[in-house]
Amino acid sequence: MAVITPESGERQLRSELLSAAKALKSHVTNSDKYAAGLSWRKVERVKKNTQINVKNNEADLGKICTDMSGCQLCGLGKTRHNLVFGAGNAQAKVVFVGEAPGADEDEQGMPFVGRAGQLLTKIIEAMGLSRKDVYICNILKCRPPQNRNPLPEEITACEPFLKQQLKSISPRIICALGTFAAKTLLKTEVPISVLRGRFHSYEGIKLMPTYHPAYLLRNPSAKKIVWEDVQLIMKELQN
Ligand code: SF4
Repeated sequence: MAVITPESGERQLRSELLSAAKALKSHVTNSDKYAAGLSWRKVERVKKNTQINVKNNEADLGKICTDMSGCQLCGLGKTRHNLVFGAGNAQAKVVFVGEAPGADEDEQGMPFVGRAGQLLTKIIEAMGLSRKDVYICNILKCRPPQNRNPLPEEITACEPFLKQQLKSISPRIICALGTFAAKTLLKTEVPISVLRGRFHSYEGIKLMPTYHPAYLLRNPSAKKIVWEDVQLIMKELQN
């Protein structure tokens, strides 16, 4: 029977502690590798899901656009040159909704490409974004003659298409540009001067009403107010 001396006992204890430390190190290393593998797989899965979502959203928007391409649900279908569906990122966090296409938009079939559109582009760039990051569309998809105000029956006929677009994109924030966009989306008669400057809710999505860029071209002093609204959007995006 082996005699345990204080020296041999200390050696044995040291050896056991060493083995335990090695086992712990190996476990930690393997756990790290396992965790790294897991998080890498998670990143890949999120990336794949994002790619699938982008494709789904683009396909959804494409289908809505195709379905309405020959739309004659209101009188504007007869006078338009091009239907202006909308443009931008199908997964945008921010969607800008204006009133209706103007002459340039009707000509090119693209939203906000005239002078007001150039100002909107500057606003988007001042937010640190580009037009490719956001989505831009209008309440009406066809130009009212001589840029007159949209008629209630035109808005009623066209609004379901906008609803489908917004549902497909599902943005975090909608920026309603001008009276008609704000009143149509919020179903209110409250003037834009009262609505602006704070978030409202559109089907669970935060909605910021602000002045239309065309209004800013006529009233440059209102740019400061719009910038205040835009800053609230930027702050919300950072949360
Ligand atoms: S404005 Fe809308 S509802 Fe009217 S014809 Fe154009 S797409 Fe159709």
